[in-house]
Amino acid sequence: MIIDLRSDTLTQPTSGMKEAMMQAALGDDVFGEDPTVKRLEDRLAQLFGKEAGLFCPSGTMTNQIAIRIHTRPQTEVICHRDSHIYLYEGGGIMANSHASVKLLDGPFGKIDAQAVAEAINPDDDHAPESILVSLENTMNKGGGSIYTLDEVRPIRKLCRDRGLKLHLDGARIFNALEESGERPDAWGEQFDTVSVCLSKGLGCPIGSVLVGSKEAIKQGRKIRKAMGGGMRQAGMLAAAGLYALDHHISRLADDHRRAQGLLMALEDHPLFSEVLPVRTNIVIARLRGMQPEEILVRLAESQIKAVKFGKDLIRFVTHLDFTDEMLEQFIRRLGDMRG
Ligand SMILES: *Cc1c(COP(=O)(O)O)cnc(C)c1O
Repeated sequence: MIIDLRSDTLTQPTSGMKEAMMQAALGDDVFGEDPTVKRLEDRLAQLFGKEAGLFCPSGTMTNQIAIRIHTRPQTEVICHRDSHIYLYEGGGIMANSHASVKLLDGPFGKIDAQAVAEAINPDDDHAPESILVSLENTMNKGGGSIYTLDEVRPIRKLCRDRGLKLHLDGARIFNALEESGERPDAWGEQFDTVSVCLSKGLGCPIGSVLVGSKEAIKQGRKIRKAMGGGMRQAGMLAAAGLYALDHHISRLADDHRRAQGLLMALEDHPLFSEVLPVRTNIVIARLRGMQPEEILVRLAESQIKAVKFGKDLIRFVTHLDFTDEMLEQFIRRLGDMRG
């Protein structure tokens, strides 16, 4: 039995999800006529207390559209240096929006209002205009760390006072909400736009939704078209999203519980010197001496898959297709690697 913990994007759609996809009412969404896409967009907009939503093929596209909505060439985006929008979106901030980026530090991938305040450029010909702050919740590179509303509110206030927009990369926002117990609409209220991924913990094959004001989403539709993201009978994919919202949110607690099981197997293990605090479904372990490439080979020999996540770090992610039986196997196989 292969235990694949490389990412929560590796999940296969369940039979219930496939059934929902087969039954979906369809139309041409470029004409604005796919009822299932509309239902998904409206449902997520409503959940986050926003006016409108935009269904896109990927979270990279929803983030990049949001950045283009909020910026102009020669303006600057402020974010943590470990942000997905900066590290993993192919240089899109520059390529799509011709904007500059200012990278901030902070523990577990998180930034605070004071750091943002210090990063806002003065109104000066030399400096790009600071125009957008982007946060990520949960924070992938921070080990699935979470922001709470109390941490976000001062950043929101600062952005309001200084005329900056605030975007949330909520690829795993439902993992964060599962742990904090906070409501999606309370989160939507703090941000101008929120990107939500359906293809991570929610287990869909494809899809992310951007939510925001009517005006922002209208502009977003045009940008999506220019990026080649206008899809036709996309209701088949949106149906998977609706199914996931009904069936795969409350079960995220299982992923988090199993991640705690991984933590227990990894901490105090002689091959690892440290495991980052585990808050959700991501487990990042620091190697004691061994190179990531070497440990990945050793793990593969035990039919366990993980990814390199820095010069001495590896990452495990729990997901819909990682069962309690696999967790037991993981613990046993890792125990055998002690010798
Ligand atoms: C996965 C992910 C995205 C979007 O990735 P796609 O593969 O383009 O859907 C965005 N932000 C974070 C933090 C992610 O983990």
